[in-house]
Amino acid sequence: MNIQKIEQILKDQKQPKFRLGQIKKAVYRDGISSFAEISTIPKELRSVLEKEKILSFEVEKVLVSKDGNSAKALLKLDDASKIETVLISPKENIWSVCISSQVGCPMNCAFCATGQTGFKRNLTAEEIVDQVLFWKQYLMKHETCNMKQKINSKLKLSNVVYMGMGEPFLNWGEVLESLKILSDPKGMAFGSRSISISTVGIPGGIEKLTQDFPQVNLAVSLHFSKDKNRNEFMPANKNLNLEKLKVELEKYFEKSSRKVFLEYIMFSGLNDSEKDAKNLLEYIKSFKKPQLLHVNLIRYNSTDSKDKFISSSAEQAVKFRNYLLGNKINCTIRRSLGTDIEGACGQLAGKK
Ligand code: SAH
Repeated sequence: MNIQKIEQILKDQKQPKFRLGQIKKAVYRDGISSFAEISTIPKELRSVLEKEKILSFEVEKVLVSKDGNSAKALLKLDDASKIETVLISPKENIWSVCISSQVGCPMNCAFCATGQTGFKRNLTAEEIVDQVLFWKQYLMKHETCNMKQKINSKLKLSNVVYMGMGEPFLNWGEVLESLKILSDPKGMAFGSRSISISTVGIPGGIEKLTQDFPQVNLAVSLHFSKDKNRNEFMPANKNLNLEKLKVELEKYFEKSSRKVFLEYIMFSGLNDSEKDAKNLLEYIKSFKKPQLLHVNLIRYNSTDSKDKFISSSAEQAVKFRNYLLGNKINCTIRRSLGTDIEGACGQLAGKK
């Protein structure tokens, strides 16, 4: 929702200040899909607002997984760029939204479909927040029968993760604005602890988070624990290598005692051996407070038959996890959701 535009309309219509609060509540809290539905404002104002769209994009496609636990939407922005957003239910009655912060991504990680499409532009705060709003409206409408059974009892979105397309710290100004709206008690009212930001590691990025919005969760896409391998598959490592990343994280821990999640995609034969687990353990143990790091193992999600990356087996993931747990490192295996809807980052928008 374009708040500035709404404010202007309210001014032009000589409406009292509290109207904005009523509109925000109806849109952000109640998840109405059209301004015409706001019963708390005068009819004349409704008919003026009715001409405005709430969402800043068109919905091109929505794919729902067979089990009804995840859905992915392809969105067409005003300039015809496309982005993706995902809705996931990791547990009953818990709905998590995964949102994009950029159109494409300049980080160019070798295994990520978004990286292959290149970078187009930053998203505005409005476009970022509207992805969450879209799913809120979607759940309100019970659009698919698959989802219908699942969502009857509770329509509430529980979490927001910035793990879609793009690198949030390269668009910090707009991401910060979006965080303010999402967490505003008079806006979407998400608790800061229900919001997570994922980064590949950008010099100064984590510091900005610590300064501007320390309450949200931080995740780092680590994937490799030796510079040689990380450089090969994640060019961002050349600007912020593992040692420098550690310095940034240690600074974060000086200010915050929040846990940080280390995302670790498991690729067969590349980073999933016992030696790799040992290297990762060494890296984590080299921190002053290793107990504040939590490893999240994700089996690589492939949809391309010619893919040069292969997912590790479930057994290998369990072995890897047990090795870390045996050495007192917090570690979980993320349940794979939405593989039948090309759930991994950028896989849908990348389709021609
Ligand atoms: N640029 C930020 C935000 C994007 S998060 C970051 O890298 O953290 C997207 C997450 O999905 C990252 O952890 C990324 O590495 C992961 N990812 C990308 N492609 C994937 C795939 N095919 N399978 C599993 N995870 C993938």
